[in-house]
Amino acid sequence: MTVNLLDYDREGLTQYLSDIGEKPFRARQLLKWIHQSGTADFAGMSDLAKSLRGKLSSVARIEAPRVMRDHVSADGTRKWLLSVGEQNGIESVFIPEANRGTLCVSSQVGCALACTFCSTGRQGFNRNLSVAEIIGQLWLANNALRESAAENPMVSGQNGQDQRAVTNVVMMGMGEPLANFENVVTALNLMLDDHAYGLSRRRVTVSTSGLIPALDRLRERCPVALAVSLHAPNNALRDVLVPINKKYPLKELMAACRRYLTAAPRDFITFEYVMLAGVNDSMMHAKELIGLVKDVPCKFNLIPFNGFPNSGFERSSSETIRVFRDILMQADIVTTVRKTRGDDIAAACGQLAGQVRDKTRRTINVNAKQAVMETMR
Ligand code: SAH
Ligand code: SF4
Repeated sequence: MTVNLLDYDREGLTQYLSDIGEKPFRARQLLKWIHQSGTADFAGMSDLAKSLRGKLSSVARIEAPRVMRDHVSADGTRKWLLSVGEQNGIESVFIPEANRGTLCVSSQVGCALACTFCSTGRQGFNRNLSVAEIIGQLWLANNALRESAAENPMVSGQNGQDQRAVTNVVMMGMGEPLANFENVVTALNLMLDDHAYGLSRRRVTVSTSGLIPALDRLRERCPVALAVSLHAPNNALRDVLVPINKKYPLKELMAACRRYLTAAPRDFITFEYVMLAGVNDSMMHAKELIGLVKDVPCKFNLIPFNGFPNSGFERSSSETIRVFRDILMQADIVTTVRKTRGDDIAAACGQLAGQVRDKTRRTINVNAKQAVMETMR
């Protein structure tokens, strides 16, 4: 079996090259070919010695997941369903905007944390993605976007920006990135490496439901922009919506956020808050939130709930969301409402389902909202 070079960041590639008797500085050249040119074929790597190209083609490969489906939404959002073997599939989503292009990347096949309102959580969990499967999503997206730009050069290049290139990455696809810590950090290293994707730390965001020990390790190993999925202002409600809260409750989570900010590339944490009608969206909830986050420099991103079959939840009305936002804003907390993008192709937040062969055999709670209400009584 050959070695997949997409599995290595610069350090790993340097080590690998030295293991096969090559000079370490070749790592930089190889990274550029692989990640900047998007090459999968060693033969075309013209500044590498022919002998090295020959050797690499016999012992190594550059292999991203296989594209099974490629959907484009009416609003330009693009979603890829990627095969990762054994009938498992993951999804990544590209969201083009006027001055940036954001790729939403998956980190696991499914998710074991089972948040009640999340389609990925309902699918169960199969396994962590490898580094190649994580960074391969960015590799594939860049190649696909380059191809589209070449086919239709008119659309790109407005204001000097190619609107169809990936300029930002958010680890907000399927899975909990901090539950796949080592592979995610290696993939982040590649995103940040000037010889690979060269994205700034501010343009790479990890979103987590709050795995505190891993959050501390991320701060030490690879601080990037951070989004924390809050979704409730108190433990009683968060225990039900985000079950990992029972292990890592809110007070500890707020303290971890403050610690994170000592090393973070941005001076605030983004709190994500899904707006669930009649569950977490009252004025009381908003006021309670203000108290909760009072010591954490933060911004709020309210996410109108995106439905999926049998979710049991409904989206808060736009009026309710507006009132909720205004209460936070009056307390000087910058609050935005996330635009729903790509929901016609089930590419919006929380709709990613891919294909997960569940190994957890969890009993699926089809009436999650009722369960939430019962605990609140
Ligand atoms: N596991 C990580 C990242 C993936 S989810 C996390 O939970 O943070 C990305 C965001 O989408 C999270 O804030 C998540 O709570 C939110 N989300 C999940 N299901 C949703 C749904 N049905 N509608 C809207 N947002 C949802
Ligand atoms: Fe997992 Fe995030 Fe979905 Fe929760 S919201 S189940 S942590 S992917």
